[in-house]
Amino acid sequence: MTGHLERASPVSSSPAAAEPPPSEPSPGFATPATVSSDPGGAPPPEPEDAPLPRSKRMRRSRTSVVVLAVLLAVAVAIGGLGFVWVATQLQEARTQISDQQRQISDQQRRLDEQQEMIDRKEQFGAAMGDLYATVDPLVGLPYSTIVPWYRVEDLADRAWIHRRNPAALDQDVADLTRLTSEISARSAGVADQAASNASGTVWETTLDRLGRGWVSTVVDESAPCGTTALACVSSTAPFTVHVQADSQTDPTVTDWIRTGAAYHEYAHVLQLTNPQPTADALAAFGGDVETMADCYALTFLDGWSLAHEVAIDEFSYYEVDVGYGYTCDAGQRQVIRDWVDRLGVTRQVVGG
Ligand SMILES: [Zn+2]
Repeated sequence: MTGHLERASPVSSSPAAAEPPPSEPSPGFATPATVSSDPGGAPPPEPEDAPLPRSKRMRRSRTSVVVLAVLLAVAVAIGGLGFVWVATQLQEARTQISDQQRQISDQQRRLDEQQEMIDRKEQFGAAMGDLYATVDPLVGLPYSTIVPWYRVEDLADRAWIHRRNPAALDQDVADLTRLTSEISARSAGVADQAASNASGTVWETTLDRLGRGWVSTVVDESAPCGTTALACVSSTAPFTVHVQADSQTDPTVTDWIRTGAAYHEYAHVLQLTNPQPTADALAAFGGDVETMADCYALTFLDGWSLAHEVAIDEFSYYEVDVGYGYTCDAGQRQVIRDWVDRLGVTRQVVGG
């Protein structure tokens, strides 16, 4: 307030201006109002904090509105673009997650399938283990057909072909298990049959010794071998020797003849239960299984011959020919020995 009083002081020399105009609300603005009435004077500078004129304020307001509108529009546009970007990113993320889930699902399915295959292969391996456990006690028996290895080989080949096919492998496991049961049942059946045989004949005694308990002797009244043969073996039951009942009472048949004839019949058992080695050996006998069987008896029964003299009393005897009339030579007897060495159940490795 002191400043205003000092500026007012020189103007007070004019009586007209001695009093401030009653219309002026503030003494602070009295001096410029008075000075502006003097046309010759320059307008005083506007103070920086002076309020804007109304028109200028409106222009600035309009400008601000426009700027705000533009900014708002830009913000909305950016927001919109941002929304689209976010939505796109979300969609891509969903797609990636979906792809990953599908990959995980595929991997799990493959793992499940692989596990299933491993399980089947282990089952097949276990079934093969059971087969070997059944076969091992039979190894060395001179009857190779007891264990049909060609069927085991075939099943192993099929299992390899079916290694990616669980259902087919299941069938292979079942077939292998069935084959093991067949071998086991055949062994048990033959053993039972042999154990139940109690004819008390030289036939039986000889065949039990030769056949290691696997060959049964059946004394038959019904002439299953025809009218001339003392005994015979059928290919449908290769472990059973049928003996004509009258061979027990015929005066021309001695125990020695029964013994030699039992060797001949046992050769038939070996022929029928070892087809491949037999086929090879038969070449030395012109394909004749009977002369080959005779040769087996001649080779392994010391003192055996095909011609016999059976005494009737001290003055007379029967001339008895046993067999098929051909006495094999040394070379053929060696063929028989080699044949016997090749016979029997072996332990074979399959699928290796
Ligand atoms: Zn015969």
